[in-house]
Amino acid sequence: AKYVYDFTEGNKDLKDLLGGKGANLAEMTNLGLPVPPGFTITSQACRHYLAEGAVPDGLEAEVAEHLAALESAMGKKLGQADDPLLVSVRSGAKFSMPGMMETVLNIGLNDESVHGLAKQAGGNERFAWDSYRRLIQMFGKTVLGIDGDLFEHALESLKGSRQDTDLSAEELQALVETFKGIVRSETGKDFPSDPRDQMRLAVMAVFDSWNAPRAILYRRQERIPADLGTAVNIVAMVFGNLGEDSGTGVAFTRDPGSGRQGLYGDYLQNAQGEDVVAGIRNTIPLQELERIDKRSYDELLQIMEKLENHYRDLCDIEFTIERGKLWMLQTRVGKRTAAAAFCIATQLVDQGLISIDEAVTRITGDQLAQLMFPRFSSEGERRLLTKGMNASPGAAVGKAVFTSERAIELAGQGEDVILVRRETNPDDLSGMIAARGVLTSRGGKTSHAAVVARGMGKTCVCGAEELEVSTSSRSFTAPGGVTVNEGDVISIDGSTGEVFLGEVPVMDSAVVEYFEGAAPQDDLVRAVDRIMKHADEVRTLGVRANADNAEDSARARRFGAAGIGLCRTEHMFLGDRRQLVEDLVLASSEEERQSALDALEPLQKSDFIEIFQAMDGLPVTIRLIDPPLHEFLPDLVELSVKVAKGDASDKERALLVAVKRLHEQNPMLGLRGVRLGLVIPGLFAMQVRAIAEAAREVRGARPEIMIPLVAAVQELEAVREEAAGILAEVGVDALVGTMIETPRAALTAGQIAEAAQFFSFGTNDLTQMAWGFSRDDVEAAFFSRYLELGIFGVSPFETLDRDGVGRLVRIAAEEGRKARPDLKLGICGEHGGDPDSVHFCHEAGLDYVSCSPFRVPVARLEAARAAL
Ligand code: ADP
Ligand code: MG
Ligand code: MG
Repeated sequence: AKYVYDFTEGNKDLKDLLGGKGANLAEMTNLGLPVPPGFTITSQACRHYLAEGAVPDGLEAEVAEHLAALESAMGKKLGQADDPLLVSVRSGAKFSMPGMMETVLNIGLNDESVHGLAKQAGGNERFAWDSYRRLIQMFGKTVLGIDGDLFEHALESLKGSRQDTDLSAEELQALVETFKGIVRSETGKDFPSDPRDQMRLAVMAVFDSWNAPRAILYRRQERIPADLGTAVNIVAMVFGNLGEDSGTGVAFTRDPGSGRQGLYGDYLQNAQGEDVVAGIRNTIPLQELERIDKRSYDELLQIMEKLENHYRDLCDIEFTIERGKLWMLQTRVGKRTAAAAFCIATQLVDQGLISIDEAVTRITGDQLAQLMFPRFSSEGERRLLTKGMNASPGAAVGKAVFTSERAIELAGQGEDVILVRRETNPDDLSGMIAARGVLTSRGGKTSHAAVVARGMGKTCVCGAEELEVSTSSRSFTAPGGVTVNEGDVISIDGSTGEVFLGEVPVMDSAVVEYFEGAAPQDDLVRAVDRIMKHADEVRTLGVRANADNAEDSARARRFGAAGIGLCRTEHMFLGDRRQLVEDLVLASSEEERQSALDALEPLQKSDFIEIFQAMDGLPVTIRLIDPPLHEFLPDLVELSVKVAKGDASDKERALLVAVKRLHEQNPMLGLRGVRLGLVIPGLFAMQVRAIAEAAREVRGARPEIMIPLVAAVQELEAVREEAAGILAEVGVDALVGTMIETPRAALTAGQIAEAAQFFSFGTNDLTQMAWGFSRDDVEAAFFSRYLELGIFGVSPFETLDRDGVGRLVRIAAEEGRKARPDLKLGICGEHGGDPDSVHFCHEAGLDYVSCSPFRVPVARLEAARAAL
């Protein structure tokens, strides 16, 4: 294998091998830009070193060869006493890992060559000793593993209140002695004076830095594979610390915050590389370079323009000026905020650099989602109580409440509330819906609170462990002894995890206003408008919304949904209607049961009328009641206690019997979905009749009736026949289809399609049953361990598991369509709004995804990206 590439041999597409830094240094070299000569040792060599504990055979010889070529090009030898070549040894992995790995500058200096360097710099002793002390400092810290503070403190105490540029040559020479002493006492050895030893050790230190704990942690967070390794770049040094006519800087080709065109960067005179970012002295804005060194400044602007045109994107760069000569030391396509991503993409279209198709691929659904959350304004006073995990972005302000009942009660009175719990469970759903935001003291980003909040687009901070939450005293205490009682106002920031006391002012997101129908007013919204319009033109996957009421339905339409893919009916049995469900469960005769159903029917009918009206002719998929009935009944324990104490009414005693009868060990695998429809006579029929009657009253209504939890075609047939009879009787047309959410349904989809006009994949249950994971329990119990172990990179409830659950979906889609070519296919699980899962659905040939109204624009964008 070839392990070393000269900068003239590489190019920007070789990032796998040369790392981002090396590939781009090669690219710039070949563009004819002023890059100091150098070469790159491949990441393959690093992987070999990390696996075998030794560098591969032949690497040393290859490095020696390239070094010899570099020496002859420069006309001097590494560390040569009278005129030393110095080099930097720089890490550079495929993905940028800012500040995570190591770089050593000024390799090649020792007690002899430091004099040669001074002489060659026209007797600039100060410069030579400054370079030497930097070498020992960087080498000592990163290669020899000495605590960097030891060097820092020595430097600080020498400087006093002066700046580093005020130090004289003599002082710097003394500092070099001090630094060498630190090396001796910390390692028991002298600082290595042989330049080749220095280089070899530095290369291995860069290899080793791939596995430094902070690098490992960073990769895990950013989901960068652990086995890539890093390349190493060896670059001839150029010097920004030669005096006032020299310096170093960083720049962006446009503003990475807003995307606006212009000059953004910082410059520092008489300084070397890291000084700019380390903030040792105040930098000056790049614009001022024009005054200091107009020639270099003009050249830099030209190069920046050239880079943008070449990379067709925003670039960030690092440069150094050595006595009026500009050198380019790094470039890459730069990171940017979500807002900048939209603006830059459309600007590049206007400049003719990219097509509008490409602009759409350059932006992610996650970036769009970020722009849709409201933010706290940074003005005014803020009192931070604690910081938890940023589980679901947004900014929420409200009165703290500690139970779901209270949340619903106060919200019903028009108050904004924040639901504060130690952790939430499925019983808290209605409280979460009522609240502006959710705060928990336990649980991570895959906890119930976090997952549900994200699904609802509700702000959530979870795992704020410093808080002591007491439900019984309706209060929590924060560090410093602050107690927040029910009714006290707090503000939570789901984008940062911060929790504030009192009200922090909130700003609306302009992008949401735009989706709500406001005309584009600023650059960002204009960019979003253009991108979204084009996305809708190119995507082939439909996007519907999950919505259970008229308000959400109307919003879903404004956000671009082509219908409702999941209208859950169970929320329609809460509140006052619980009473009627209790009556249904307690009915002891046919007449009692029928009268309970008769009471429910008009209520259901009016729900559906509102939704059909809001959707105005778009299809509405209504799922018949799905959860186990006992979810609508009082809690077993509470009721038992009441009965035991003797304070229960007759009805409550009867209820207890029913609750016990309906109690299940595994309710999610119990009497629910289609099973309820088959076991409780008249329940599904009542719902179908309500749908049909409502549809008859709303012109153009397009109901689609969906049967949940089917596992066998026989179940579906029984329900379908009854439904067909009712539809015919009322005189209304509606599709009847089923959810595919049990593995058996997926595997027998060919049979089921005979009885279903459409399939909607319920990927929450399908994931739960395919993995055998109880969704309500496992995330908090062990998902963080599973993520740590790499069993999956992301929770399968968040992103659809392509290998397992995805295979079930593909089988069902294929066999279903074989049996019924015009079978409509959709997905209505949580995954419908998840970018990667949207791409999967496109690839699997589904007709549409359905997701919460707030995710609809995200799904539209991702569907387009999947099609491009
Ligand atoms: P990072 O990846 O942390 O940015 P770099 O390898 O880019 O680390 O190096 C850190 C700093 O040292 C940069 O500011 C860079 O410009 C400077 N630097 C690296 N190599 C040289 C060199 N050959 N001559 C002058 N400065 C250099
Ligand atoms: Mg750099
Ligand atoms: Mg389900």
